[in-house]
Amino acid sequence: MSDNGQKIIELPSMITVRDLAQRMGASPIQVIKVLMSNGVIANINQQVDFDTASIVASELGFETHQEMLEEETPKETGEIPFWRQIISGEDPHQLVTRPPVVTILGHVDHGKTTLLDAIRHTNVAGGEAGGITQHIGAYQVEHKGHAITFLDTPGHAAFTAMRARGAQGADIVVLVVAANDGIMPQTREAIAHARAARVPIIVAMNKIDLDGANPDFVKRQLADAGLIPDEWDGNTIVVPVSAKFRKNIEDLLEAINLVADSMEIQANPKGRVIGTIIEAQVDRSKGVVATLLVQNGTLEMGDVVIAGTAYGRIRAMFDFRGKKLHKAGPSTPVQIMGLSDVPQAGDLFQVVDNEKAARELVAERKLQHQESRAAAPKATLEELFSRVQSGEERELRLIVKADVQGSLEPIVSSLNDLGKEEISINILHAEAGNIGENDVMLAAASHAIIIGFNVQADTPARRLAEAEGVSIRTYEIIYRMIEDVEKALKGMLEPEIREVVVGQADVLMVFHISRVGNIAGCKVTQGEIRRNGKVRVKRNGEIIFTGDISSLKHEKEDVREVRQGYECGIGVRNFDNILAGDVIECFILEKNG
Ligand code: GDP
Repeated sequence: MSDNGQKIIELPSMITVRDLAQRMGASPIQVIKVLMSNGVIANINQQVDFDTASIVASELGFETHQEMLEEETPKETGEIPFWRQIISGEDPHQLVTRPPVVTILGHVDHGKTTLLDAIRHTNVAGGEAGGITQHIGAYQVEHKGHAITFLDTPGHAAFTAMRARGAQGADIVVLVVAANDGIMPQTREAIAHARAARVPIIVAMNKIDLDGANPDFVKRQLADAGLIPDEWDGNTIVVPVSAKFRKNIEDLLEAINLVADSMEIQANPKGRVIGTIIEAQVDRSKGVVATLLVQNGTLEMGDVVIAGTAYGRIRAMFDFRGKKLHKAGPSTPVQIMGLSDVPQAGDLFQVVDNEKAARELVAERKLQHQESRAAAPKATLEELFSRVQSGEERELRLIVKADVQGSLEPIVSSLNDLGKEEISINILHAEAGNIGENDVMLAAASHAIIIGFNVQADTPARRLAEAEGVSIRTYEIIYRMIEDVEKALKGMLEPEIREVVVGQADVLMVFHISRVGNIAGCKVTQGEIRRNGKVRVKRNGEIIFTGDISSLKHEKEDVREVRQGYECGIGVRNFDNILAGDVIECFILEKNG
């Protein structure tokens, strides 16, 4: 009982109407009625957030407290951290601890670049930061005698591009979250990317100098996202900082050392030389200049390096301050000259015996590349299932996108329920919004498939998905989506039906024709409209109807298709509410496999 005689209940951050009713000993109907009187229409299985649930509870005579959840640890993704893969063949007796490599992720404008500058300024060994005029994509600082390497290209595009190419520079992610803004879409994406890569996250809660900073609110958000702050007995270190005023930077470095210690990040300085290309470009006077992060072994002047299909003997090697180097051990970023070609960021590099060996390897790689392009593996549900069955995969990884937050929660919980059998379902990322390039990148890097509910993939995302062989499945009915995933888990999936958008038209005016109904007078703005295609009617960017074309006319003639630039009349079956300004998208259904 609380002081005012109300009963106290603990509630999680999200709860279904049914569970909420049960916890209060009320009937679900009572709860639904209170929700309705507060303007929320919900069914018994729908989830409501803590604040909404609290309003209902207080109307029914309860005081609420937020329940501390068990830490939601990221599920096994079946992937082992990249650096462990690199050292897997090394002699265990020769392994030594190496400095951690850290990358900074977070939402735009939350202060990633400022933080990188602040760290560079406060802690570059010997206080030479001011003297560093060039950025080579990575730098090293020292904290209490321990070196830490920072990758200098903030943002998860670089991080994921690396993973998609099979490499991974970072051992630890520092997630910057502005204390006045809290978790934003790119913060969530960053969390998903780090988790998918099984890289631990330290939160730098930035901008604490601002009046609008609200650390408690941000911590609650972090906890809701599964990053429970250590002060709440969770596993995530949250360090309040001000990058702008260079406050608490030492604390952040201390936290990095602490996490690195617990991970025992190792390498063999005497082992095979291998690492990741951080960036590369052509310089007019110097030729190809590339920044390499050594992850195992020791790179030396004169070594022959091969990265992708670029190779060459190292003619000159510099550290991040621009000083000449002869040797570079694990976790050292170096800039080298001497490559024949520009490798791509994220390519793995290795040292080979001589240039002849390098040429042979390059020839082999080029051939392999051609062959693999011809048979690009597809991360379709069917394909994934067959891999699961053959024991290659133990889980089905999904990225879930839905039109609104409200539909996302029931989808995620239903999908999670499905994965309780021998194969688990791992939802790497679930968010409201259209399917974008970032989702496809994450899927490609993690061999996941993307499922969307009432959302579309934008054009760049579709192109990327095609190039990367990522499967995107979209649904308009939740149970179909669940059914499909269930079938995939049971290996009974029908061939995938793909939607292929063939064209789009703007509705310029609407004609009413008696006995026929409304006809949209349109101009085709992209591709073509096909008489036998299906259409989606969009208003202000939202889909308001999906169905079939009932008639297609060009200058009063019935036609089979109308191309871009031409005008036409489109009748949409069972839909009369078309308005000028609407957009009609035409698509066809194709069997895939
Ligand atoms: P990024 O997009 O994440 O790299 O963000 P930036 O580092 O470019 O910072 C975005 C804006 O936030 C800039 O105007 C910075 O000056 C400001 N900013 C960054 N850190 C802080 C901070 O600790 N306090 C305050 N008040 N502003 C900051």
